[in-house]
Amino acid sequence: MNPNHTADQAYVRETNLSLVLRLIHSQSPLSRAQLAAITGLNKSTVSSLVDELIERKLVHETGSNTGGTGRPATLLAINPQAGEVIGVELGVDFVSVAVTDTLGNILWRRREDANPSDDQGKMINQTLNIVKEAMATGKRKGYNYLGLGLATPGTVDLKKGLLIFAPNLHWRNVPFAKIFSDNTKLRVFVENDANAAAIAEHLFGTARQCQDFLFVFAGVGIGGGLFLNGKLYRGNNGYAGEIGHSPIMAEPSQNVCHCGNRGCWETYANQYSIIQRVQARLEVKRTSIIPKLMAEQNSHLTLPLIKQAADAGDKEAIDSLIEAGQAMGQGLAGLINIFNPEKIILGGPLSIAGEYMLPPIKATIDRHSLPEIDQQAEVLLSPFGPDASLIGAVAIVVDDMLSFPSNAKK
Ligand SMILES: [Zn+2]
Repeated sequence: MNPNHTADQAYVRETNLSLVLRLIHSQSPLSRAQLAAITGLNKSTVSSLVDELIERKLVHETGSNTGGTGRPATLLAINPQAGEVIGVELGVDFVSVAVTDTLGNILWRRREDANPSDDQGKMINQTLNIVKEAMATGKRKGYNYLGLGLATPGTVDLKKGLLIFAPNLHWRNVPFAKIFSDNTKLRVFVENDANAAAIAEHLFGTARQCQDFLFVFAGVGIGGGLFLNGKLYRGNNGYAGEIGHSPIMAEPSQNVCHCGNRGCWETYANQYSIIQRVQARLEVKRTSIIPKLMAEQNSHLTLPLIKQAADAGDKEAIDSLIEAGQAMGQGLAGLINIFNPEKIILGGPLSIAGEYMLPPIKATIDRHSLPEIDQQAEVLLSPFGPDASLIGAVAIVVDDMLSFPSNAKK
C-alpha cells in the first residue's frame, strides 16, 4: 500500500477519535447514536471509534438512557481515571501545585508563598520540591500521569516549552519544559497563565459551549486569554493577550510598570494597585481596622487581609477595591468594544475580592462600552476563582489528550 495513503488513514482515524472524544467531554453523557447524529459519521464508524476510546480507558459507559420510546441506549462519558495530571501554577508571589483526575477534580494540592525578589533558581527549586512531593504521593496511590502542565505569567514559546519574558518576574528565556521533564520524566506542557485559564474555562468551566469569550487573569499582573470562533487566539507570534500592558495613561507622572513602561492598564487595577490605594488612604485616615488586623496577624498589607477588612465593613478597604474595580472596568470596556465577546470571565488571585470589584466593574463597563455591545457581554467570576490558572495548567494536558487520543496506552 502507498505509505502516504496509510499515513492519511491514520490521520483521519486520529482526527475522528479526537472529534468523538471532545464531544463526549463537552456534552456527556452521550449515546453512540447521538454521536453519529452530531458528527455525521456512520454508526459503525462511531462504534469502532468508541470501542477504541474505551479500550484506551479514555471513555467509559455510565448507564443507559431510558427516557425515550425506543431501546435504551448506553451512555458514554469521559473516564475520570483515564490518567492523573500534575498542574503547576507559577504565580509571582506564590507557587501552587495540584494533582487532579482527568476531569480536573483536585486529588492533592499544595500552595506556598514565594518571594519574587528571590533568584530564579531558588523559586524553581521550591516549585520542583513540591512537584516531587506530588510525584511521591502519586507513586503511593498508583497514579498514572498523563503529563505535567505549567502555567506561567509572560510570553511563552509553546513548541520549545520556553518562557520568553515575564515582566513581573524579570525572567527571560527559561527552558521550563526541559527543567521539569528532566526532573519528572513526564511529558511537560507550558502555557501562559491567562491562556491556560481560558482553556480550563472552555474544557471544565463556564465557557464549555461558548465560542467567543475573554478570560481575564488578575493578580500581580493582568493577562488575557481570548477565545475567538471556539479557538484560543494566539496572534502572529503566539504572544496575544498581554492586555495588562495596554498603555492607558503613558505620562511621565504615572507609575512605572514591571515591563518598564509607564501608564500600563495593570498598574491601575492589579493587586499592587489595591495595596497602594489602601496605603494612601491610611496615610490620611485613622479610622480603618486594617492597622489592627496587620498587628494581630503580624502581617504586611496583603490582598487577603484587605478582603478580610472589607468583610468587616471597613470603608477604606471597600473603597479601594471599588476604585480598582472601576479601573478594571475601563480596560474591559475597551476590549468589549473591540471583540464583542459573549462572556468576560475574571479569575486569579484578585477574584477573592470579586464580590466587591464585580459591581463597579459592571457599572463602569455600562458607562464606557457601546450599549448594544455591552448588553450582550456577560461579566462573571471564574468558578475556579484564585485557582483559575492552576486548573489551567491541568487543562493544557487534558487538551492534548483530547487532541491526540492514540497517545493513551491500550
Ligand atoms: Zn506594562
